Amino acid sequence: MTGSPSGSGSGAAPPQALNGPQAERTTPGMVCAHHHLYSALARGMPAPPRTPTGFTEILELVWWRLDRALDLDIIEWSAKLGALEALESGTTAIVDHHESPNAIEGSLDVIAAACAEVGVRVDCCYGVTDRHGPAGARAGLAENDRFLRAGGRGHVGVHAAFTCSEATLEAAAGLAADHGAGVHIHVAEGAADAAAGARLESLARDDWLIIHAVHLDRDLPGMIVHNPRSNMNNAVGYARPAGRPNPVALGTDGIGAAMLDEFRLAYVCHRSDDVTATPETAWSWLEAGWRLFPEALEDTVVWSYDRMDPWSLAFTTGVRALEATVDGETVLRDGRAVRVDADEIRAKAAEAAARLFAKLEDIP
Ligand SMILES: [Zn+2]
Repeated sequence: MTGSPSGSGSGAAPPQALNGPQAERTTPGMVCAHHHLYSALARGMPAPPRTPTGFTEILELVWWRLDRALDLDIIEWSAKLGALEALESGTTAIVDHHESPNAIEGSLDVIAAACAEVGVRVDCCYGVTDRHGPAGARAGLAENDRFLRAGGRGHVGVHAAFTCSEATLEAAAGLAADHGAGVHIHVAEGAADAAAGARLESLARDDWLIIHAVHLDRDLPGMIVHNPRSNMNNAVGYARPAGRPNPVALGTDGIGAAMLDEFRLAYVCHRSDDVTATPETAWSWLEAGWRLFPEALEDTVVWSYDRMDPWSLAFTTGVRALEATVDGETVLRDGRAVRVDADEIRAKAAEAAARLFAKLEDIP
């Protein structure tokens, strides 16, 4: 296993301020290495037809109903709200994984434009799946291809091995190789996908993003992205990322983009499994996000707290981002987004959410 991720920044040393005794209130921009911006409007959605009793039913009764209700307008406001909340959390770069089976073509452009408007960096992909038949899989592959061919920043997305045929997995891997982009895929998140290791072993490469790896029965090349809050919320078990030889980064799996929160959860999950664990390990996972977005190292965030080091932050809640710059431009000032009207985004997002919830009532 070489485990070296793509990106030119893998050799970049973290700024001294993050690790040394000179800890201070400024850090680089945080990176969320796995997000679903389309879930920003899901909060408060109508209850599913019945209570899901396991991970697969959570997908079937919640997320696979939600994604069918998405249209390009809902995707736009969801992405703007998600990007706004990321910026307000000091996160300047997002690796997004998107699915909207009834609005595939152009969806990645909508997400990229929404993030650009707010001033947040984004890496997009469309999650290919055979859940909607061969035409759906082809349309998903085509959206990845179209977006990357047009110069968009992204990966080739795959939902997960257990919802794809061998032919679809091979097509996605081939398309990614053609673009030099890597595949962004959920791997063995639940027991239902435990065969993913065997099915992906001949396809995976060092530039893949392997999301979750909770029930993965072997090592695969690529960067593992650990999402501790989501894993607990879905009761899928603890991924034990510290035991893997891969580089590990942190994601939220769509539950906001507050990476200091995710770091604290990653630390305490690690500690609950191993009492000798220290916050430096989870902090190294946070830092690994910069391999995916080396330019976020040049972004700056000024925080409400002046001891931005792993041991202090592991036990300090409520630390807020006050100022942020992206590409030298101030995009957050006094905790408020500069380029966009946050109140307007929240109001328009609420209108889109009401429309989304009404559509969901009609989806079995
Ligand atoms: Zn996910």
